[in-house]
Amino acid sequence: MINQSEDILKTYFGYETFRAGQKKTIDYIRARHNTLAVMPTGGGKSLCYQIPGMSLDGTAIIISPLISLMKDQVDALEALGIPATYINSSLTASEQQTRLNDIAAGRYKFVYAAPERFESSLFMSIIKRINVSLIAFDEAHCISQWGHDFRPSYRSIIPNLNQLPNIPVTVALTATATTEVISDIQSLLEIDNEHIVKTGFERENLSFHVVKGKDKSSYIRSFMDKHRDESGIIYTATRKQADSLHEQLAKRGLSTAKYHAGLTENERKEAQTAFIHDEKTVMVATNAFGMGIDKSNVRYILHYAMPMSIESYYQEAGRAGRDGEHSDCILLFSPKDVQLQKFLIEQSLMDDNAKQHEYRKLQAMMNYCHTHGCLTSYILDYFNDNEAGAKSACGRCSNCLNRQNRMDITEEAQMILSCVKRMGERFGASMTAKVMKGSRDSRLHQFGLHKLSTYGLLSAYTEKEITERIQFLVAEKWLSTKDGKFPTLQLNENAVEVLKGKATVWMYTAPIPANEPGDYQ
Ligand code: ADP
Repeated sequence: MINQSEDILKTYFGYETFRAGQKKTIDYIRARHNTLAVMPTGGGKSLCYQIPGMSLDGTAIIISPLISLMKDQVDALEALGIPATYINSSLTASEQQTRLNDIAAGRYKFVYAAPERFESSLFMSIIKRINVSLIAFDEAHCISQWGHDFRPSYRSIIPNLNQLPNIPVTVALTATATTEVISDIQSLLEIDNEHIVKTGFERENLSFHVVKGKDKSSYIRSFMDKHRDESGIIYTATRKQADSLHEQLAKRGLSTAKYHAGLTENERKEAQTAFIHDEKTVMVATNAFGMGIDKSNVRYILHYAMPMSIESYYQEAGRAGRDGEHSDCILLFSPKDVQLQKFLIEQSLMDDNAKQHEYRKLQAMMNYCHTHGCLTSYILDYFNDNEAGAKSACGRCSNCLNRQNRMDITEEAQMILSCVKRMGERFGASMTAKVMKGSRDSRLHQFGLHKLSTYGLLSAYTEKEITERIQFLVAEKWLSTKDGKFPTLQLNENAVEVLKGKATVWMYTAPIPANEPGDYQ
C-alpha cells in the first residue's frame, strides 16, 4: 500500500511536489499533533488533510461551513477512487440514512459534514462508534468570534467532540491570519505554537487596485467592454446592487450569472455551476458567493463596494488567479460604502466591545483605500507577514504604478494637525474639513469652532479634497483615530514630529489610476 505522503501526492493527485507548508502540516498531523495551517486561498489546504486522511486508519471527518463545497470535494475524491461522502440538509431523509449506515460500517475514508450535524444525537452516536482518523476544521476562522464569518455552531462542536472515546487529532485550516483569530483557534482546539504552519501570504500573480472618484457603473461598463471574454467576479455590498448590476450587464449582452442569499437554492446552484463550467463569464454576487469555490481561471475580482475588513477583502480578492496567471483585484471606493458598513455594524446584535472591534477593522479597510503606499505591502503588514517592511513596493499595484508625481504636503499637514489639536481631538474628519474650509455650517458655531485660528486656513480647497487629505494622513499613520461610529482624530508621535518640522509628508498626486488595470503590461 502507498503510504508515503510524496507517493500519495504523485499517485493519487498527480502532483510532483508539495506546495509551501503542505508537507509540514501533513507530517504534524501524521504524528498526531493538533495543527493549524494558515495559507492563502488557493494555497492547497485540502491536500493537507486529505493526504493524512488517506494514510491514517479510519475515517476522516471534515467540518465545513459550506454545503456547495462539500459536494465538489467529495466528487473530486471519488473521481480519484477514494471513498468519500458528505452529509447535510441537501439530502433527503432516506439518502441521509443510507449514508449514515455506510459511515457506521466504516466504508468511507472521508466524511464531510456541516457544523450543525454535530448537534444530531444520531450522528454523534455513529461517530462515537467508528474509528475516526482525524477531524479537520475547514475555514477554521468561522470558529473565532474575531473572524469575519463567525458561526456559533462551529464553536459548539468542541464539547461534542470531547465526548468521543478517543479524541482524534485535529487540524484547523484557514486563510485568515490575524493574530487574534489565530490565538482564538489555537486555544479552542488546543494547538501548540510549534504546530502552526503559516506560509507567506503574498500572491505574486495578483495586482491590487483602488479606484476612487469614478462613476462606478460607467467604470464597470468600460472595464467589461475590454475584458469580455475573461472570467471574473463582481462583488456588491447588497442583494439589490447585485440585482441591478446584473441586469445592466445582461442588457449589454454580457454573459452574466448572479448569486446572493435572496435567491432559491436551485437558482444559486445553477448560477454557480454555470460560472464554474465557464458557461457564464461574469458572476455578480454578494459575499454569499465564493467560500470554497475552486475555479482556477478567474482573471479579476471587482469590488463594486468596499467590504467590511481586510480579511474579507483578501479572502474574496484571493479567488482570482488560482492558476497562478496574472489577475487583477480592483476595489471601487466611494465614501458612501463606509456609511453602509457602519450601518451594518450598528444594526448587528454585537455587544459594544465587538462593535468597537468591527470599527477598528473597518478603519483598516478604509486606510487601505486611502493609503498612497504599496497596496500589497499594506495587506501583508496587516497580516503581520511583511518581514521588517522588507517589501516596501510590489511594483504592480495601482499605487506603485502611479508614483510619478511626488508632492511635499508637509505644510498642509501641519495646518490640519494643528487644527485637530485646537479642536481638542474631539471631532472627526468631516468636521475638521469644515473648519479648515471655513464652512458656515451651524454646528461649527454651536461648538465655537469658527473662532479657531485654523478656521478657513484651507479655504482654497473643497471640503472633499480636505477630507481626502485627512484620510490620507490617517492611512499613512501621521494621524490616529479613536475608533467608533464617529471616529475622532487624534495626534500621535508622528504628528508631533510633523508639527515640530522634523518630518516631511509626501503625497502622490495621482491616487486614481491613470490606466485601467490590465493596460499596464
Ligand atoms: P485552498 O483550500 O487553500 O484555497 P485548494 O486546496 O482548493 O486551496 O487548492 C487549490 C488548487 O491547488 C487546487 O486546484 C489543488 O488541486 C491545487 N494544488 C494543491 N496542492 C498542489 C500541489 N502540491 N501541486 C500542484 N497543485 C496543487
